[in-house]
Amino acid sequence: MLSAPGKGGNATRAVNAGRREEWTGKVVNPPIWRGSTHLYETSAELKRGHPNEDGYFHYGRRGSPTQWSLAEALTELEPGACGTLLYPSGVAAISGALLGVLKQGDVLLMTDNAYDPSRMMTHSLLSDFGIETRFFDPLDLEGFAGHFCDRTKAVLLEAPGSLTMEISDIPALTTIAREKGALSLIDNTWASPLGLPALERGCDIAIMSLTKHVGGHSDVMMGSVACRDTQLYTHLRQKAQALGIVVSPDDAALALRGLRTMPLRLKHTAASAVKLAEWLSKRPEVAHVLCPMLPGAPGHDLWQRDFTGGCGLFSILLKDADIAMQSRFVDALDLFGIGYSWGGFESLAIPFEPSRARSATSWPPSGVRREDRLGVRLAIGLEDADDLILDLEQAFRHMTNT
Ligand SMILES: *Cc1c(COP(=O)(O)O)cnc(C)c1O
Repeated sequence: MLSAPGKGGNATRAVNAGRREEWTGKVVNPPIWRGSTHLYETSAELKRGHPNEDGYFHYGRRGSPTQWSLAEALTELEPGACGTLLYPSGVAAISGALLGVLKQGDVLLMTDNAYDPSRMMTHSLLSDFGIETRFFDPLDLEGFAGHFCDRTKAVLLEAPGSLTMEISDIPALTTIAREKGALSLIDNTWASPLGLPALERGCDIAIMSLTKHVGGHSDVMMGSVACRDTQLYTHLRQKAQALGIVVSPDDAALALRGLRTMPLRLKHTAASAVKLAEWLSKRPEVAHVLCPMLPGAPGHDLWQRDFTGGCGLFSILLKDADIAMQSRFVDALDLFGIGYSWGGFESLAIPFEPSRARSATSWPPSGVRREDRLGVRLAIGLEDADDLILDLEQAFRHMTNT
């Protein structure tokens, strides 16, 4: 949905974005327009049709004011965006954007610490369409330029990296990509536009899983793709239409509800995460805290330079741990659920060891002992940080008392 930029700071824009009176009427939120069919007055009107532009009723697949309002709100929160497309999940947004910009014979460069389903789609989906993927080390700026060939058409970035939280130099990588004639896409789910204005840092396309921070309540799945350029937006919109992509108006209403409180939730969970990360950095059971928001942690300098905020998601590496200890720690947690996803109101934890999901780099990286390679990813929710600290403390006791 194409739209004009909003006014005010993040919280003000999150409250007001997308609430056009023509869509909401005299109530605060746009109604849920649950419908496939739009009725026309006459057969002549049907024949004439509606222009294939945003904001016109045509048929359910092109959305209704409920979805238009969400898309416009996301555009208003994304500095430099001219429009946003909605997809039924974050993964659908990633595959939709990649299939939209790449064609047979093209080469994609993907960061080696990408979200695992992004990695998986390179052989199960992109390769079937004749699109080749090469992985690069997100921290090797000098080596990056060497990965391009004349068929390289796009780069997929993600910062911080999934699980391992490395921060790459986004302005530098996108500058190189542009010089080489490739588009830069970023999976910006961690920071959201509130924490990283990705399009202003050189990216052409910013992708988000709305399932996380925007939904915010672990009850909806959705994804978005914001574009810097109207031509690119129109191109991706056409591809999404051809794929039959549509999100339900009920889900769009849930995402809109979440979006209104997102700035507050992100501020709270980021502050709690830093508090917990500080506490964890002093624990003897923890070898490394992978939290770029924490002063002194890997990636902190770049995070401070390029990011405007963070969130509640970070990782730790356990010291001298084996898989049994890693499991004992996670299983003993009481306030943290064990489960995928994050960005909800509740805290979550998952154990990880990413070595099989790396090809351009190795795990553990240099500077991390093999004995310290097992990690736990923590998603901090809206609970009191002190209660979460007590929970981690008792779980460490379970981990070490055998
Ligand atoms: C969860 C996640 C996705 C995928 O989102 P879904 O809505 O679950 O499909 C993509 N990227 C990152 C970084 C994620 O954490």
